[in-house]
Amino acid sequence: MSTDAKRVITTLAALLLTVLTTTGGAVAADGDGPSAGQRIANALRTSPVYVDEAYAEAVPPSRQRQLADRIRRTGLPIKVVLTPLTKGDAFDGESDLLAGTVRDRLPARRDLVLITSDGDFPDSLRGYEWPGDAHQASRAVAAAGFLDEMRDAGLADLTAKAVDLVAEGKGEQRYEEAVSDLDGSAPPARSGSGSTSGSGWTGWWLLIAVPALALTALATRAALLRSRTSPAVPQLVFATARAADEARVRRRAEAEVLALGEATQAADVAATPGLQQALDVYAAAGTVLDGARGLPDLAGALALAQEGRDALAGSPGLPLCFFNPLHGRAVLRTGWRPLGRRDRLDVAVCKECADALRDRRAPEVLPDTDANGRTVPYFELPAARSAWAATGYGSLMPPSAGLGRAR
Ligand SMILES: [Zn+2]
Repeated sequence: MSTDAKRVITTLAALLLTVLTTTGGAVAADGDGPSAGQRIANALRTSPVYVDEAYAEAVPPSRQRQLADRIRRTGLPIKVVLTPLTKGDAFDGESDLLAGTVRDRLPARRDLVLITSDGDFPDSLRGYEWPGDAHQASRAVAAAGFLDEMRDAGLADLTAKAVDLVAEGKGEQRYEEAVSDLDGSAPPARSGSGSTSGSGWTGWWLLIAVPALALTALATRAALLRSRTSPAVPQLVFATARAADEARVRRRAEAEVLALGEATQAADVAATPGLQQALDVYAAAGTVLDGARGLPDLAGALALAQEGRDALAGSPGLPLCFFNPLHGRAVLRTGWRPLGRRDRLDVAVCKECADALRDRRAPEVLPDTDANGRTVPYFELPAARSAWAATGYGSLMPPSAGLGRAR
């Protein structure tokens, strides 16, 4: 989508949000009181740094003050908004909408650089600026996520680095450097580096991000989900899938498979006992990606990329979340009894799904289509027909082990 189109959509969405909020609509999903956007804008009047409670541990008040000081020293109109973004929330999980909404609610339309949470990737950041692109904020913030030194950094350090790079004003250059350091092949620059063009999507995921941070984000999301009440408890709910999600996941899968390939090339043959396995998994991931017909296959490519990475590292971690691998890497294994079955499955789940099971809520599952064209949980397909049902994306057996027998 062109930057202009994106901007128009962002504006329209913000407008719609305003209309619905003022007419008592439920889109702001915020209960009583000011809308989420207004509350953030109000907070930004007294400090350039807004951190939602959900991130208070990752960015405690002392770090918030440090960030605010750092921003003041730059002399630039930088503001930071760190808040969890989830589909269906006040900003529908979109950082573009968050940024546009907050900007519209700030008192005067002065120059503004906004660094926000990224809706696509937990613990990544996006940069925006108005008017124009004088500080190259979008690229500068994206570059921060790519830097090698930021690989294990917490959200507070990542934000500080983003502020520094914006202040330096060489975002384009830093971005190209950081990306070419990563893999020697920079992704094509987006056309039109307008003020709302973000480019943070590849950043953190290429680096196969930090479990601790992912935990924070998942806990955050779980807390958000908990705060919603659900009267009836269906055993499972389907993840809503939109065309945009599929394109996004496809890009992510491509980036991760590419990164795995490059990691195998860079690996030291003598010091990497899992190299051959990683190469096999890499080849399988490429095949899956090429033939991918939808989210289940794309998620499979992601699971294979993870398996390959673990083989290279020689440290098998937990697989991706069983219920929906797009939730990211699981944090624990737990027993789960599918409806209508007597035996319990031992599955690996993300924090969010673990909380859901504990609270007797329905975890959000990745849907697939059965032989009759019905939408069913992917794991209800016959194992002979779906490698992903057979393997549970790594919960039941390694993802690559399912490929020989199914698909
Ligand atoms: Zn999950």
